[in-house]
Order: sequence, then structure tokens, then C-alpha cells
Amino acid sequence: MGSVCSSSLEPVGAMNNIWDAAERSLDSCSEEDYDCPICQDVLKTPIRTRNCRHVFCKNCFRLAVRAQGPHCPLCRGPVSETEKRAIDVQQQMRERKGQCRACGTTKFLSKMRVHYKSCRKYLEEYGTPLDAPPPPVTPTTQEVSRVSVDTIHMTGYHT
Ligand SMILES: [Zn+2]
Ligand SMILES: [Zn+2]
Ligand SMILES: [Zn+2]
Repeated sequence: MGSVCSSSLEPVGAMNNIWDAAERSLDSCSEEDYDCPICQDVLKTPIRTRNCRHVFCKNCFRLAVRAQGPHCPLCRGPVSETEKRAIDVQQQMRERKGQCRACGTTKFLSKMRVHYKSCRKYLEEYGTPLDAPPPPVTPTTQEVSRVSVDTIHMTGYHT
């Protein structure tokens, strides 16, 4: 965690100053600092664990905890499912710009996910939009068992 990163940018004022500040901050703090270790992309609704102070998307974190138990997905430290929002990170993402990893367009990090959804290059390279993870796999069980029975017949299963 570079303390340089947390130095506040100028409040919204003259556009020129904003651009300069954004340019400079990009040198020292890249988008990397705001990546979720789970989905490997720009944080969405960041939360921070109390113990180890690791930051994840709220959703990613919750899914991970449900799947693996109350361990930090990064360092396996103890966590709870309801860790606090990382308000400071979220705030920084509103003030800091990063580049779309696909087309290179500069966007506020807080808006990056929105951009991804409409960025054709991104969709070509990375496929599914980040905000629409596949629904939990609960197929109609009848369908599945029927298919597997058919398969057994097809392959000439003997006992
Ligand atoms: Zn994530
Ligand atoms: Zn951790
Ligand atoms: Zn893009």
C-alpha cells in the first residue's frame, strides 16, 4: 500500500488540473491497486477485511466465503461474511482514472465496469460481462438424470 496513493487529488475544479493530477497519479498508482484478487478486475463495491485489510469486491468476497468458509481468499486469515465497505477505496476510484485493458480508453475506475460492458474490444477479449456472472448451477435435475441414463444406454453399459 503506497501512501502516495492515498494523497487526495484536487477536488473537482478546472478540468486542466484534474487531467494533470490524473496523469501523475497514473504513473505511481496503476489500475492494479484497485483490482480484485478474485475476479482480477476493477473492484466493484469494495470491502476490506478487518484483520488482514485485504480488499475485494463485495460480491466476490461473499461468494468466496460461502464456498470456502470464513477465510480470507487471499491469505486465509479469519474473516466474517459481513466485512465493512472500503469507503476510502471506493472514493479513490471515483477520483482516479485508469485505462481500459482492452481498448486503452481512460475512464474513472468507478466507471470502468460500466465501460467494460459497452467496450467491444473488451467483450471480444474477455467474453462475458463482469456484472453478469453465470447463475448458480441448478439445472432441472430431471433433465440431467435423463441425459445421463441415455448416455449409459448409448455407450452400451453392461453390468
Ligand atoms: Zn472481484
Ligand atoms: Zn487477507
Ligand atoms: Zn474499452
